[in-house]
Amino acid sequence: MPSTVRPTEQVRPTEHLDLLLRDLRSSRDGLSAREARRRLVHVGPNMLRRRGRRQWPRQLLRQFTHPLALLLWAAAGLAFAVGIAPIAVAIVSVIVLNAAFAFVQERHAEHAVEALAAFIPLRAKVFRDRQRQSIDATELVPGDVLVVTEGDRISADARLLDGDIEVDMSALTGESAPVSRAAELLDIDVPLLQARDVIFSGTVCTGGEATAVVYATGMRTELGRIASLSERVRPEESPLERQVRRVAWLIAGISVLLGAAFIPIAVLGAGLSFLNAVIFAVGLLVGNVPEGLLPVITLALAIGVRRLAQRGAVVKRLSAVETLGSTDVICTDKTGTLTENRMRVTAIDTSGGTADPSDESATAALAPALVSRLSTAMNACSNAHRTTSGDLIGDATDVAVSAAAATVGAVTEVTRVRQFTFDSVRKRMSTVDRSGVSTAIHVKGAPESILPRCTAELAPDGRPTPLTAERRAELEKLIDDRADAGFRVLAIADRPLSEFEPIPGTAPEAESALTLLGLVSIVDPPRAEVAEAVTRCRTAGIRIIVITGDHGRTAAAVARQVGIVRAEPVIVTGAELDRMNEDALDRLLDTTGELIFARASPEAKLRIADALRAGGHVVAMTGDGANDAPALRSADIGIAMGRSGTDVAREASTMVLTDDNFATLAAAVAAGRRSYDNIRKFIFYIFAHATPEVLPFLVFALSGGTVPLPLTVPLLLAFDVGTETLPALALGRERAEPGIMRRPPRPRHEAVIRGPMLVRAWLFLGVLCAVLALGGFFAVLLAAGWHPGDATDAGTPLHHAYRQAITVMFAGMVAGQIGTAFAARTDRAALRSIGAFSNPMLLWGIAFELVLTAFISYFPPLQYVLGTAALAPWMVALVLPFPVVVWGADELRRWAVRRRTL
Ligand code: ATP
Repeated sequence: MPSTVRPTEQVRPTEHLDLLLRDLRSSRDGLSAREARRRLVHVGPNMLRRRGRRQWPRQLLRQFTHPLALLLWAAAGLAFAVGIAPIAVAIVSVIVLNAAFAFVQERHAEHAVEALAAFIPLRAKVFRDRQRQSIDATELVPGDVLVVTEGDRISADARLLDGDIEVDMSALTGESAPVSRAAELLDIDVPLLQARDVIFSGTVCTGGEATAVVYATGMRTELGRIASLSERVRPEESPLERQVRRVAWLIAGISVLLGAAFIPIAVLGAGLSFLNAVIFAVGLLVGNVPEGLLPVITLALAIGVRRLAQRGAVVKRLSAVETLGSTDVICTDKTGTLTENRMRVTAIDTSGGTADPSDESATAALAPALVSRLSTAMNACSNAHRTTSGDLIGDATDVAVSAAAATVGAVTEVTRVRQFTFDSVRKRMSTVDRSGVSTAIHVKGAPESILPRCTAELAPDGRPTPLTAERRAELEKLIDDRADAGFRVLAIADRPLSEFEPIPGTAPEAESALTLLGLVSIVDPPRAEVAEAVTRCRTAGIRIIVITGDHGRTAAAVARQVGIVRAEPVIVTGAELDRMNEDALDRLLDTTGELIFARASPEAKLRIADALRAGGHVVAMTGDGANDAPALRSADIGIAMGRSGTDVAREASTMVLTDDNFATLAAAVAAGRRSYDNIRKFIFYIFAHATPEVLPFLVFALSGGTVPLPLTVPLLLAFDVGTETLPALALGRERAEPGIMRRPPRPRHEAVIRGPMLVRAWLFLGVLCAVLALGGFFAVLLAAGWHPGDATDAGTPLHHAYRQAITVMFAGMVAGQIGTAFAARTDRAALRSIGAFSNPMLLWGIAFELVLTAFISYFPPLQYVLGTAALAPWMVALVLPFPVVVWGADELRRWAVRRRTL
């Protein structure tokens, strides 16, 4: 390939671009809005159509073939093989019902996540009607003139008209090192993707600024051509799902072993017929396989995702909901997250005095020679733009500086020749500007990054005076004072170029031997709602660390205003952090309570995230700049800002805050905790059924058949599928328990299914339900004059009583289940404190269970199929108190737990 590459040809660039613009019927000023609308109708929206949408047959098939379903198929096969066809049919219907249910739930979950894309629309900056505007990226059309700046995702294929940028092409080429692209570089005879004057949809601008004319959109872009979109990103399994899948498997394995081991024991030891032993084994298997668990979890997570989105936190993975719940450290930046990002210059300090730009008489008192150069620099070295309606738009700092420029003094209009863009590592930006015959470099940025590059300061008479050590110390003191008051301070400097001096080609050349013109202090008030959110995080045991690019004292002042710091925080600057080794950083993070990282670079964020994670913490990290992406990826939850953040940050993040607000983050943590709690609730609820499902078979087997089977396999199946799922789903929507944000975060590796939960489910409530239901069973039999060993088969006098007894057993289990559902609603709190009727869906679920039970015992066709019989009123009365007994027993347990841990 290299042999075919001709060296870059520096042809007159405008010539071919003019031809391209002509072909595209556009100009350097872009299209008119009307023309763009017409083209949009013609070429269609700029988006990639997803092929291969017909995923559902495969998805449906998967529900029948996943391992737990296969186990059920095996059970059905076994039942069929030994000649109990009705049971085989019943098991198959369970498989079908379960598959349908799981399928619907998975689709539901998928749609919930897909719908989120609409919350974070991609935008593009274009010239329309000669005005720079921000439009929805789907509205881009060929001929549009795009403005690309650092952090933008490029949304169409375009040829550069002006400027130079760095581009991350990894989406197209897999190569993640940024490459430079510039309008002047003309590559001929190279593959299109390597051409250095073209930029492509799907790639990302990591530095610089350029304009480009769009020549292809939507499916006609390289991305549209290359991407095989039929292959969708496989949703990764969350740790929670993985854990539950493992446990489900374990339980299924144990059931198979138990079943297989019991057949010989039952036949040889208890003298059971082989047929009865197989029935027993099948019952054990079907009763225990928690086949419905995983889809319910997926759905519960999806509901969590939707709930978060409604609160302004859009997450991209289901598992984020779970991680959010265990977050114990939040690393937040300051600007825009803790503060409003609405900046206003409130003081200007010059060698000739201090003035408030909003006070005209004060600024008039400043020396005119000094002030005009300062205001010109402020105006020139800013990327804020004025809209047709006269509003300033752009970066908040730039907007504040531009707005103040005009009020400070007379601004000389300039034409920008070159720009060295702002980035958060250099913490400054500079422009080379021409006005008539004179050219000057204008610089603005963090004082620490500007003052060392200044050799002089402009005196009130308009002449530069050397910057002495005393004056520098004086300025530093002033900067500290302003920062202590919570202001963001910027230094403004310039350097006029003599007629013969060449235009500097690099930032270091431009940003040297500067003359300091003044310092501007900007106020950015804290958001009103942050203080309360900080308190919530504190009580929830979540530590907040501020990592900001701003001055440490400014950050400390803001952090104090919102309550993040109370005492004197330890402030570590980016430079100090760079000198620290990993051990020192670990120690610092471990031992220091109130910490602020100031003047931090994006790499610093990455290091801090890594160190915290290595220390076992679950870290949420905010970021908005293009180079925050690695830190956002490395944190457990990377959080980008929906409004002010760059596209790159948004893409690297797991969660996007649509309102850029820290308070939303606190709410998201609460929502995450709630979702996780609810998942545990229904896992507990589903597990609690295992004991009542298995115990009747054990009684039957261990009695050697002297006790008739208390629960037939078809009834067990009816219980398993018919009555279990709806309340489980309802528990997934349970409200947050009181005090959810008053307890410490869940440890990182805490298992979702833990010993105490299993004891409570299997041995406490499970055994209680089983004993109650079996008690009902025996009560009915004994009342009919049954003695152990009496025959109860069809045709015997006791057969009707037996049918009633198994119906009572079933009804008793359902009643116990209702009690369990109420008990599952809270782990520690009293039911009274959460309101017995506060979950309407659960009440509906229970109503459904009751209706089904009524049908099973009184509806003749079902009686025929399931072998049940109508209950006498006293039997109903016997079962009625069961829910209260079960729930009451757990209420007492919770009361005891609360007392113990008070
Ligand atoms: P945070 O990291 O909390 O969002 P920040 O906005 O101060 O804080 P950066 O955007 O990295 O972080 O900015 C770092 C510093 O660079 C600022 O404190 C300021 O001094 C300077 N700065 C910010 N924006 C500009 C700009 N547009 N032009 C020149 N200097 C800027």
